Amino acid sequence: MILLFEIIAFLLLLACGGLGFWVAYLSRNAESARKKEEELQARVKLLEDEGARLRLKGAAGPMPAPLPPPKASEEPFSMKDILLHVPDGLVVTDANLRITFANLTAERIIGLPAAEADGQPFWEVVKLHEEDGKVLGEANCPLAVVLERRTPLVRDSDVLTTRYNTEVSLAAFLAPIPDPEGKSRGAIYLFRDISEAKQVDRLRDEFVTNVSHELRTPLTVIKGYVELLMEEFGDTFMPSQKDFLRVINEESDRLAKLIDSILEFSQAKTGEVGLRQEQFNILEVLEDSIKFFTPPAVKKEIQIVRRLPPDLSPIKGDRNAIRFAVDQLMDNAIKFTPEKGTVSVEVGGWKLEDGLWKVELSIRDSGIGIAPEKVSQIFDRFYRAEQKVHTLQGTGIGLSIVKEIIELHGGTISVESTPGQGSKFTIRLPMII
Ligand code: ADP
Repeated sequence: MILLFEIIAFLLLLACGGLGFWVAYLSRNAESARKKEEELQARVKLLEDEGARLRLKGAAGPMPAPLPPPKASEEPFSMKDILLHVPDGLVVTDANLRITFANLTAERIIGLPAAEADGQPFWEVVKLHEEDGKVLGEANCPLAVVLERRTPLVRDSDVLTTRYNTEVSLAAFLAPIPDPEGKSRGAIYLFRDISEAKQVDRLRDEFVTNVSHELRTPLTVIKGYVELLMEEFGDTFMPSQKDFLRVINEESDRLAKLIDSILEFSQAKTGEVGLRQEQFNILEVLEDSIKFFTPPAVKKEIQIVRRLPPDLSPIKGDRNAIRFAVDQLMDNAIKFTPEKGTVSVEVGGWKLEDGLWKVELSIRDSGIGIAPEKVSQIFDRFYRAEQKVHTLQGTGIGLSIVKEIIELHGGTISVESTPGQGSKFTIRLPMII
Protein backbone atom coordinates (compact mmCIF):
# COMPACT_ATOMS: atom_id res chain seq x y z
CA MET A 1 0.00 0.00 0.00
CA ILE A 2 2.74 2.29 1.04
CA LEU A 3 4.59 1.28 -2.05
CA LEU A 4 1.62 2.08 -4.22
CA PHE A 5 1.32 5.43 -2.55
CA GLU A 6 4.96 6.10 -3.09
CA ILE A 7 4.69 5.15 -6.74
CA ILE A 8 1.70 7.43 -7.17
CA ALA A 9 3.55 10.23 -5.36
CA PHE A 10 6.58 9.64 -7.54
CA LEU A 11 4.43 9.73 -10.63
CA LEU A 12 2.74 12.86 -9.37
CA LEU A 13 6.08 14.45 -8.67
CA LEU A 14 7.25 13.39 -12.05
CA ALA A 15 4.14 14.79 -13.60
CA CYS A 16 4.60 18.06 -11.70
CA GLY A 17 8.27 18.15 -12.67
CA GLY A 18 7.33 17.52 -16.29
CA LEU A 19 4.78 20.26 -16.12
CA GLY A 20 7.36 22.63 -14.65
CA PHE A 21 9.71 21.59 -17.28
CA TRP A 22 7.12 22.15 -19.95
CA VAL A 23 6.10 25.42 -18.38
CA ALA A 24 9.73 26.47 -18.27
CA TYR A 25 10.32 25.12 -21.75
CA LEU A 26 7.28 26.82 -23.19
CA SER A 27 7.98 30.14 -21.45
CA ARG A 28 11.56 30.08 -22.70
CA ASN A 29 10.27 29.40 -26.19
CA ALA A 30 7.81 32.31 -25.95
CA GLU A 31 10.64 34.61 -24.92
CA SER A 32 12.83 33.65 -27.87
CA ALA A 33 9.85 33.78 -30.19
CA ARG A 34 9.18 37.34 -29.00
CA LYS A 35 12.82 38.25 -29.54
CA LYS A 36 12.70 36.62 -32.95
CA GLU A 37 9.50 38.47 -33.70
CA GLU A 38 11.17 41.74 -32.67
CA GLU A 39 14.21 40.99 -34.81
CA LEU A 40 11.94 40.06 -37.67
CA GLN A 41 9.99 43.31 -37.25
CA ALA A 42 13.23 45.28 -37.23
CA ARG A 43 14.42 43.58 -40.42
CA VAL A 44 11.07 44.08 -42.08
CA LYS A 45 11.28 47.76 -41.19
CA LEU A 46 14.74 47.93 -42.65
CA LEU A 47 13.54 46.25 -45.79
CA GLU A 48 10.54 48.55 -45.99
CA ASP A 49 12.73 51.62 -45.63
CA GLU A 50 15.10 50.33 -48.27
CA GLY A 51 12.14 49.45 -50.51
CA ALA A 52 10.70 52.89 -50.06
CA ARG A 53 14.08 54.36 -50.91
CA LEU A 54 14.40 52.16 -53.95
CA ARG A 55 10.82 52.90 -54.99
CA LEU A 56 11.53 56.58 -54.67
CA LYS A 57 14.65 56.19 -56.76
CA GLY A 58 12.69 54.22 -59.34
CA ALA A 59 10.00 56.83 -59.45
CA ALA A 60 12.62 59.49 -60.24
CA GLY A 61 13.36 57.79 -63.60
CA PRO A 62 16.90 57.64 -64.92
CA MET A 63 19.89 58.07 -62.68
CA PRO A 64 20.21 61.66 -61.65
CA ALA A 65 23.04 63.68 -63.21
CA PRO A 66 26.22 63.77 -61.15
CA LEU A 67 26.48 66.73 -58.92
CA PRO A 68 28.47 69.68 -60.35
CA PRO A 69 31.94 70.06 -58.87
CA PRO A 70 32.06 72.44 -56.00
CA LYS A 71 32.35 76.02 -57.29
CA ALA A 72 35.68 77.74 -56.62
CA SER A 73 34.25 81.00 -57.93
CA GLU A 74 31.61 81.89 -60.52
CA GLU A 75 34.16 83.17 -63.17
CA PRO A 76 37.64 81.63 -62.92
CA PHE A 77 39.26 84.33 -65.14
CA SER A 78 38.30 87.93 -65.37
CA MET A 79 38.43 89.61 -68.80
CA LYS A 80 41.30 91.71 -67.48
CA ASP A 81 43.27 88.57 -66.57
CA ILE A 82 42.79 87.24 -70.06
CA LEU A 83 43.80 90.47 -71.81
CA LEU A 84 46.76 90.84 -69.48
CA HIS A 85 48.16 87.51 -70.67
CA VAL A 86 47.40 87.77 -74.40
CA PRO A 87 50.73 86.94 -76.09
CA ASP A 88 50.54 90.05 -78.34
CA GLY A 89 51.12 93.55 -77.02
CA LEU A 90 47.89 95.36 -76.21
CA VAL A 91 47.52 99.02 -75.32
CA VAL A 92 44.13 100.67 -74.84
CA THR A 93 43.59 104.43 -74.74
CA ASP A 94 40.70 106.78 -74.06
CA ALA A 95 39.42 109.27 -76.63
CA ASN A 96 42.29 111.65 -75.77
CA LEU A 97 44.87 108.95 -76.48
CA ARG A 98 45.74 108.60 -72.78
CA ILE A 99 46.67 105.04 -71.92
CA THR A 100 44.11 103.21 -69.78
CA PHE A 101 45.46 99.67 -70.09
CA ALA A 102 48.63 97.91 -71.20
CA ASN A 103 49.11 94.16 -70.96
CA LEU A 104 52.20 92.20 -69.93
CA THR A 105 53.48 91.65 -73.48
CA ALA A 106 53.20 95.39 -74.16
CA GLU A 107 55.16 96.08 -70.97
CA ARG A 108 57.82 93.60 -72.04
CA ILE A 109 58.19 94.90 -75.62
CA ILE A 110 58.08 98.59 -74.71
CA GLY A 111 60.07 98.07 -71.51
CA LEU A 112 57.76 100.18 -69.39
CA PRO A 113 55.71 99.04 -66.38
CA ALA A 114 51.98 99.40 -67.08
CA ALA A 115 51.58 101.42 -63.89
CA GLU A 116 53.93 104.07 -65.30
CA ALA A 117 52.19 104.07 -68.66
CA ASP A 118 48.78 104.59 -67.10
CA GLY A 119 47.33 107.98 -68.06
CA GLN A 120 50.33 108.88 -70.28
CA PRO A 121 49.85 110.02 -73.89
CA PHE A 122 50.11 107.04 -76.24
CA TRP A 123 52.82 108.59 -78.47
CA GLU A 124 55.06 109.26 -75.45
CA VAL A 125 54.96 105.65 -74.31
CA VAL A 126 54.71 103.89 -77.68
CA LYS A 127 57.46 105.84 -79.47
CA LEU A 128 57.00 105.07 -83.14
CA HIS A 129 58.66 106.07 -86.36
CA GLU A 130 58.32 104.90 -89.93
CA GLU A 131 61.08 102.87 -91.59
CA ASP A 132 62.38 106.02 -93.32
CA GLY A 133 62.81 107.69 -89.93
CA LYS A 134 59.68 109.88 -89.94
CA VAL A 135 58.57 110.21 -86.32
CA LEU A 136 54.94 109.34 -85.54
CA GLY A 137 54.36 111.75 -82.68
CA GLU A 138 51.44 113.73 -81.35
CA ALA A 139 50.78 115.43 -84.70
CA ASN A 140 50.57 112.27 -86.80
CA CYS A 141 49.94 109.43 -84.36
CA PRO A 142 48.32 106.54 -86.30
CA LEU A 143 45.97 105.86 -83.39
CA ALA A 144 44.61 109.41 -83.74
CA VAL A 145 43.74 108.62 -87.36
CA VAL A 146 41.80 105.57 -86.19
CA LEU A 147 39.90 107.63 -83.63
CA GLU A 148 39.11 110.31 -86.16
CA ARG A 149 38.13 108.07 -89.07
CA ARG A 150 36.45 105.51 -86.79
CA THR A 151 37.86 102.68 -88.89
CA PRO A 152 40.47 100.01 -88.11
CA LEU A 153 43.95 100.26 -89.57
CA VAL A 154 46.77 97.80 -90.19
CA ARG A 155 50.39 98.98 -90.10
CA ASP A 156 53.26 96.63 -90.82
CA SER A 157 56.31 98.83 -91.15
CA ASP A 158 56.51 101.00 -88.05
CA VAL A 159 59.48 100.89 -85.73
CA LEU A 160 59.23 101.24 -81.96
CA THR A 161 61.99 102.75 -79.85
CA THR A 162 61.91 100.93 -76.55
CA ARG A 163 62.79 102.33 -73.16
CA TYR A 164 66.22 100.74 -73.52
CA ASN A 165 66.71 102.68 -76.79
CA THR A 166 66.56 99.55 -78.89
CA GLU A 167 64.45 99.38 -82.04
CA VAL A 168 61.71 96.84 -82.66
CA SER A 169 59.81 96.40 -85.94
CA LEU A 170 56.09 96.09 -85.35
CA ALA A 171 53.05 94.70 -87.12
CA ALA A 172 50.10 96.51 -85.58
CA PHE A 173 46.32 96.35 -85.71
CA LEU A 174 44.55 99.52 -84.63
CA ALA A 175 40.83 99.80 -83.93
CA PRO A 176 38.46 102.35 -82.43
CA ILE A 177 36.18 101.48 -79.50
CA PRO A 178 32.82 103.02 -80.38
CA ASP A 179 30.20 104.27 -77.93
CA PRO A 180 26.51 103.43 -78.53
CA GLU A 181 26.26 106.43 -80.89
CA GLY A 182 29.20 105.20 -82.96
CA LYS A 183 31.63 107.90 -81.78
CA SER A 184 35.08 106.71 -80.73
CA ARG A 185 35.46 106.59 -77.00
CA GLY A 186 38.85 105.00 -77.10
CA ALA A 187 41.18 102.95 -79.24
CA ILE A 188 43.03 99.64 -79.22
CA TYR A 189 46.63 99.15 -80.34
CA LEU A 190 47.44 95.45 -80.78
CA PHE A 191 50.99 94.77 -81.86
CA ARG A 192 53.59 92.09 -82.44
CA ASP A 193 57.38 92.17 -82.63
CA ILE A 194 58.30 91.22 -86.24
CA SER A 195 61.95 92.28 -86.07
CA GLU A 196 63.17 88.78 -86.88
CA ALA A 197 60.94 88.44 -89.94
CA LYS A 198 62.05 91.88 -91.14
CA GLN A 199 65.67 90.91 -90.67
CA VAL A 200 65.12 87.76 -92.75
CA ASP A 201 63.48 89.94 -95.40
CA ARG A 202 66.46 92.29 -95.44
CA LEU A 203 68.90 89.41 -95.69
CA ARG A 204 66.91 87.95 -98.56
CA ASP A 205 66.95 91.28 -100.40
CA GLU A 206 70.69 91.58 -99.85
CA PHE A 207 71.13 88.03 -101.08
CA VAL A 208 69.08 88.72 -104.21
CA THR A 209 71.12 91.87 -104.90
CA ASN A 210 74.43 90.05 -104.44
CA VAL A 211 73.41 87.07 -106.54
CA SER A 212 72.15 89.39 -109.28
CA HIS A 213 75.48 91.20 -109.35
CA GLU A 214 77.30 87.89 -109.56
CA LEU A 215 75.07 86.67 -112.39
CA ARG A 216 75.46 89.78 -114.50
CA THR A 217 79.20 89.36 -115.03
CA PRO A 218 79.20 85.87 -116.61
CA LEU A 219 76.11 86.77 -118.59
CA THR A 220 77.86 89.76 -120.14
CA VAL A 221 80.70 87.42 -121.13
CA ILE A 222 78.29 84.87 -122.69
CA LYS A 223 76.55 87.59 -124.67
CA GLY A 224 79.89 89.03 -125.80
CA TYR A 225 81.07 85.68 -127.16
CA VAL A 226 77.77 84.94 -128.91
CA GLU A 227 77.93 88.32 -130.64
CA LEU A 228 81.54 87.69 -131.57
CA LEU A 229 80.67 84.29 -133.06
CA MET A 230 77.86 85.77 -135.12
CA GLU A 231 79.97 88.68 -136.37
CA GLU A 232 83.11 86.72 -137.16
CA PHE A 233 81.77 83.37 -138.32
CA GLY A 234 78.09 84.04 -139.02
CA ASP A 235 78.50 83.53 -142.78
CA THR A 236 79.98 80.07 -142.36
CA PHE A 237 77.19 78.72 -140.10
CA MET A 238 74.38 76.49 -141.23
CA PRO A 239 70.87 77.96 -140.75
CA SER A 240 70.16 75.75 -137.70
CA GLN A 241 73.45 76.83 -136.06
CA LYS A 242 72.54 80.46 -136.63
CA ASP A 243 69.14 79.77 -135.14
CA PHE A 244 70.69 78.23 -132.02
CA LEU A 245 72.93 81.26 -131.56
CA ARG A 246 69.98 83.58 -132.01
CA VAL A 247 68.09 81.74 -129.25
CA ILE A 248 71.14 81.93 -126.93
CA ASN A 249 71.41 85.64 -127.65
CA GLU A 250 67.71 86.33 -127.07
CA GLU A 251 67.60 84.36 -123.87
CA SER A 252 70.75 86.09 -122.60
CA ASP A 253 69.06 89.42 -123.29
CA ARG A 254 66.00 88.30 -121.45
CA LEU A 255 68.01 87.11 -118.47
CA ALA A 256 70.08 90.30 -118.42
CA LYS A 257 66.88 92.33 -118.41
CA LEU A 258 65.47 90.31 -115.57
CA ILE A 259 68.65 90.62 -113.53
CA ASP A 260 68.76 94.37 -114.14
CA SER A 261 65.18 94.69 -113.01
CA ILE A 262 65.77 92.69 -109.86
CA LEU A 263 68.84 94.74 -109.10
CA GLU A 264 67.18 98.04 -109.76
CA PHE A 265 64.16 97.30 -107.66
CA SER A 266 65.82 95.53 -104.79
CA GLN A 267 68.03 98.62 -104.58
CA ALA A 268 65.02 100.90 -104.83
CA LYS A 269 63.38 98.92 -102.04
CA THR A 270 66.35 99.10 -99.74
CA GLY A 271 66.60 102.82 -100.50
CA GLU A 272 69.96 102.56 -102.27
CA VAL A 273 68.55 103.97 -105.48
CA GLY A 274 65.36 105.96 -105.28
CA LEU A 275 62.71 105.86 -107.97
CA ARG A 276 63.00 108.63 -110.48
CA GLN A 277 60.29 111.26 -110.34
CA GLU A 278 59.63 112.38 -113.86
CA GLN A 279 56.51 113.47 -115.69
CA PHE A 280 55.45 111.10 -118.41
CA ASN A 281 52.45 110.07 -120.41
CA ILE A 282 51.20 106.60 -119.53
CA LEU A 283 49.60 106.27 -122.99
CA GLU A 284 53.06 106.46 -124.55
CA VAL A 285 54.32 103.74 -122.23
CA LEU A 286 51.40 101.50 -123.19
CA GLU A 287 51.92 102.15 -126.92
CA ASP A 288 55.66 101.35 -126.64
CA SER A 289 54.88 98.12 -124.84
CA ILE A 290 52.24 97.12 -127.40
CA LYS A 291 54.79 97.74 -130.17
CA PHE A 292 57.37 95.61 -128.39
CA PHE A 293 54.95 92.71 -127.92
CA THR A 294 53.35 92.79 -131.35
CA PRO A 295 55.84 90.30 -132.96
CA PRO A 296 55.33 87.53 -130.36
CA ALA A 297 51.57 88.18 -130.43
CA VAL A 298 51.51 87.90 -134.23
CA LYS A 299 53.45 84.65 -133.96
CA LYS A 300 50.65 83.17 -131.82
CA GLU A 301 47.96 84.89 -133.88
CA ILE A 302 46.91 86.78 -130.77
CA GLN A 303 45.07 90.00 -131.43
CA ILE A 304 46.11 93.01 -129.33
CA VAL A 305 43.14 95.31 -128.83
CA ARG A 306 43.58 98.93 -127.68
CA ARG A 307 40.89 100.56 -125.57
CA LEU A 308 42.71 103.80 -124.94
CA PRO A 309 41.54 107.40 -124.72
CA PRO A 310 43.01 109.82 -127.27
CA ASP A 311 44.70 111.83 -124.55
CA LEU A 312 45.46 111.62 -120.84
CA SER A 313 47.07 114.03 -118.38
CA PRO A 314 50.65 113.01 -117.52
CA ILE A 315 51.58 111.26 -114.30
CA LYS A 316 54.72 111.46 -112.18
CA GLY A 317 57.00 108.56 -111.40
CA ASP A 318 59.70 106.32 -112.81
CA ARG A 319 58.90 105.83 -116.48
CA ASN A 320 61.26 102.84 -116.89
CA ALA A 321 59.88 101.11 -113.86
CA ILE A 322 56.29 101.53 -115.02
CA ARG A 323 57.28 100.33 -118.48
CA PHE A 324 58.85 97.27 -116.86
CA ALA A 325 55.59 96.60 -114.97
CA VAL A 326 53.44 96.96 -118.09
CA ASP A 327 55.84 94.74 -120.04
CA GLN A 328 55.61 92.01 -117.42
CA LEU A 329 51.81 92.03 -117.60
CA MET A 330 51.87 92.02 -121.40
CA ASP A 331 54.43 89.22 -121.45
CA ASN A 332 52.28 87.08 -119.13
CA ALA A 333 49.09 87.88 -121.04
CA ILE A 334 50.62 86.65 -124.29
CA LYS A 335 52.40 83.73 -122.63
CA PHE A 336 49.27 82.40 -120.89
CA THR A 337 46.90 82.94 -123.82
CA PRO A 338 46.57 80.16 -126.38
CA GLU A 339 46.85 80.82 -130.09
CA LYS A 340 44.21 83.03 -131.73
CA GLY A 341 43.29 84.60 -128.40
CA THR A 342 42.91 88.26 -127.50
CA VAL A 343 44.85 90.64 -125.26
CA SER A 344 43.34 94.05 -124.63
CA VAL A 345 45.05 97.07 -123.19
CA GLU A 346 42.62 99.44 -121.53
CA VAL A 347 42.66 102.74 -119.70
CA GLY A 348 39.66 103.04 -117.44
CA GLY A 349 40.16 106.75 -116.70
CA TRP A 350 40.60 108.48 -113.37
CA LYS A 351 39.03 106.94 -110.26
CA LEU A 352 38.90 108.34 -106.75
CA GLU A 353 40.51 105.85 -104.36
CA ASP A 354 41.47 106.54 -100.70
CA GLY A 355 40.87 110.24 -101.35
CA LEU A 356 43.36 110.28 -104.25
CA TRP A 357 42.74 110.43 -107.98
CA LYS A 358 44.20 107.36 -109.60
CA VAL A 359 44.52 106.48 -113.25
CA GLU A 360 43.36 102.94 -113.97
CA LEU A 361 44.98 100.76 -116.61
CA SER A 362 44.22 97.12 -117.31
CA ILE A 363 45.64 94.30 -119.34
CA ARG A 364 43.01 91.69 -120.07
CA ASP A 365 43.55 88.35 -121.79
CA SER A 366 41.44 85.44 -122.98
CA GLY A 367 43.97 82.92 -121.63
CA ILE A 368 44.05 79.98 -119.26
CA GLY A 369 43.09 82.06 -116.18
CA ILE A 370 44.14 81.41 -112.57
CA ALA A 371 42.46 79.09 -110.06
CA PRO A 372 40.67 81.18 -107.35
CA GLU A 373 42.68 79.59 -104.52
CA LYS A 374 45.95 80.60 -106.22
CA VAL A 375 45.08 84.19 -107.05
CA SER A 376 46.23 85.54 -103.69
CA GLN A 377 49.69 84.01 -104.12
CA ILE A 378 50.65 85.02 -107.63
CA PHE A 379 52.24 88.25 -106.38
CA ASP A 380 54.55 86.26 -104.07
CA ARG A 381 58.16 85.88 -105.12
CA PHE A 382 58.98 82.78 -107.18
CA TYR A 383 55.35 81.63 -107.15
CA ARG A 384 54.02 79.96 -110.28
CA ALA A 385 50.36 78.99 -110.24
CA GLU A 386 50.10 76.42 -113.00
CA GLN A 387 52.17 73.25 -112.80
CA LYS A 388 51.20 72.41 -116.38
CA VAL A 389 52.55 75.63 -117.81
CA HIS A 390 56.02 75.09 -116.39
CA THR A 391 57.10 74.20 -119.86
CA LEU A 392 56.53 77.91 -120.52
CA GLN A 393 59.43 80.18 -119.69
CA GLY A 394 59.19 82.02 -116.44
CA THR A 395 60.75 82.61 -113.06
CA GLY A 396 57.74 83.43 -110.90
CA ILE A 397 59.37 86.70 -109.91
CA GLY A 398 57.84 89.11 -112.44
CA LEU A 399 54.57 89.87 -110.68
CA SER A 400 56.23 90.35 -107.30
CA ILE A 401 58.45 93.05 -108.83
CA VAL A 402 55.45 94.59 -110.59
CA LYS A 403 53.63 94.83 -107.27
CA GLU A 404 56.71 96.32 -105.63
CA ILE A 405 57.02 98.97 -108.36
CA ILE A 406 53.36 99.91 -108.28
CA GLU A 407 53.29 100.14 -104.49
CA LEU A 408 56.48 102.22 -104.47
CA HIS A 409 54.53 104.64 -106.68
CA GLY A 410 51.68 104.70 -104.14
CA GLY A 411 49.48 102.63 -106.45
CA THR A 412 47.69 99.30 -106.30
CA ILE A 413 47.50 96.22 -108.49
CA SER A 414 44.67 93.70 -108.51
CA VAL A 415 43.59 90.73 -110.60
CA GLU A 416 40.30 89.21 -111.62
CA SER A 417 40.46 85.82 -113.26
CA THR A 418 38.26 82.95 -114.38
CA PRO A 419 39.98 79.64 -115.16
CA GLY A 420 39.61 78.80 -118.81
CA GLN A 421 38.30 82.26 -119.69
CA GLY A 422 41.08 84.70 -118.92
CA SER A 423 42.55 87.24 -116.52
CA LYS A 424 42.44 90.98 -116.04
CA PHE A 425 45.26 92.75 -114.22
CA THR A 426 44.42 96.29 -113.13
CA ILE A 427 46.94 98.90 -112.02
CA ARG A 428 45.91 102.13 -110.34
CA LEU A 429 48.51 104.89 -110.12
CA PRO A 430 48.00 108.10 -108.18
CA MET A 431 48.07 111.54 -109.70
CA ILE A 432 51.09 113.26 -108.20
CA ILE A 433 51.70 116.87 -109.18
P1 ADP B 1 56.32 83.92 -114.39
O1 ADP B 1 57.73 84.22 -114.69
O2 ADP B 1 56.06 82.51 -114.01
O3 ADP B 1 55.38 84.43 -115.43
P2 ADP B 1 55.07 85.88 -112.72
O4 ADP B 1 55.42 86.38 -111.36
O5 ADP B 1 54.99 86.89 -113.81
O6 ADP B 1 56.06 84.73 -113.04
O7 ADP B 1 53.68 85.16 -112.62
C1 ADP B 1 53.45 84.26 -111.56
C2 ADP B 1 52.42 83.22 -111.94
O8 ADP B 1 51.14 83.85 -112.06
C3 ADP B 1 52.66 82.59 -113.29
O9 ADP B 1 53.57 81.52 -113.21
C4 ADP B 1 51.27 82.12 -113.67
O10 ADP B 1 50.98 80.90 -113.02
C5 ADP B 1 50.39 83.20 -113.06
N1 ADP B 1 50.00 84.22 -114.07
C6 ADP B 1 50.51 85.46 -114.20
N2 ADP B 1 49.90 86.14 -115.21
C7 ADP B 1 48.96 85.30 -115.72
C8 ADP B 1 48.00 85.40 -116.77
N3 ADP B 1 47.86 86.51 -117.51
N4 ADP B 1 47.19 84.33 -116.99
C9 ADP B 1 47.31 83.21 -116.24
N5 ADP B 1 48.21 83.05 -115.24
C10 ADP B 1 49.02 84.07 -114.98
